[in-house]
Amino acid sequence: GKVLVSGANGFIAVWVVRSLLEQGYSVRGTVRSADKGKHLKEVFASYGDKFEVVEVPDITLEGAFDEAVKGVDAIEHTASPFHFKAEDPAELLEPAVKGTVGILESARKHGTSVKRVIITSSVAAVLSVPSSPQVFTEADWNDQAVKEVEEKGREASNAAKYRASKTLAERAAWDFHSKHKAEVAWDVVALNPPMVFGPIIHEVSSPHAQNTSSQTMYDVFTKEGSAVGSGSWVDVRDIALAQVLGLQKEEAGGERIIISAGAFSFQDLLDAAPPSSKHQKGTPGAGKDAVHQIRFNAEKSVRLLGLNYHTMAETVADTLEDWEKKGW
Ligand code: NDP
Repeated sequence: GKVLVSGANGFIAVWVVRSLLEQGYSVRGTVRSADKGKHLKEVFASYGDKFEVVEVPDITLEGAFDEAVKGVDAIEHTASPFHFKAEDPAELLEPAVKGTVGILESARKHGTSVKRVIITSSVAAVLSVPSSPQVFTEADWNDQAVKEVEEKGREASNAAKYRASKTLAERAAWDFHSKHKAEVAWDVVALNPPMVFGPIIHEVSSPHAQNTSSQTMYDVFTKEGSAVGSGSWVDVRDIALAQVLGLQKEEAGGERIIISAGAFSFQDLLDAAPPSSKHQKGTPGAGKDAVHQIRFNAEKSVRLLGLNYHTMAETVADTLEDWEKKGW
């Protein structure tokens, strides 16, 4: 089959493309400009015409994906801004929501062979900031961030702006499908990963031009005093594999699925580095007793997709090796 991957030049998306090609799928990737497709074509040159790149310059325009969806069997929608620099929340909300609804609308009108659409959502659409430690599941929705953005607009926190964009986009996908399910032959799956770490195979000009989550990990290892904080994490190869399994497992249809290897303290990343690592060590062990306010139950990902997560030691070793190779 052939799979459309939107935002194919992104950190996660290139790994999705690679996993799909390795499993025998043909892939059509969308990028915003021809320039951004060049590196991709080089990376996947050995796959010949099983990999193609098409330009979708502005995902917020009506009909932007009309051509791109033609002839594909499935869609992996990953294109969405992930940064904490937006002044106006619309910078994030518009492309997140319009991009999602737009690709679904194109699939409804022109995606006659599409059987499944996978939305790369986030735990940002699941969590809310709790007053006491909480374990979140797929039943939870981040209405808190949406409310904060509605009430405070530009004064909302940067985290709330991003989280609201992911919540509204995922909700729009479910709403769209429930409204049009009688007319379409496809179902929807939402995957909800936390911070994604791992080796980088997309085009990055320097360590300071990394995608947001990779930058966070790089800072933890290279910037003094940065090993403070916590969250949940997953290896980029695991979320990429989940995107492929999400197409293959019939039972995944109609499900949101949290894709998380677990909660961690930033210090845990430093502690997981091989002894030979030349990077800063922080305060070894300081993260071990942290009480994580936010945890995710990822049992459904194991049950429905059979995922077997990388350990933090594996992810850190492979990421450090990648930096070394890049001369960072
Ligand atoms: P990247 O920043 O590496 O990739 C983002 C992709 O989306 C790029 O292809 C980018 O294109 C495209 N994009 C961003 N803004 C726009 C826009 N306004 N219009 C069109 N395309 C746009 O991020 P990730 O790979 O980390 O993220 C991919 C997806 O995964 C996103 O949906 C993100 O929310 C989600 N996610 C990421 C997590 C993480 O920790 N990395 C965690 C949870 C979810 P261009 O290069 O042209 O800017």
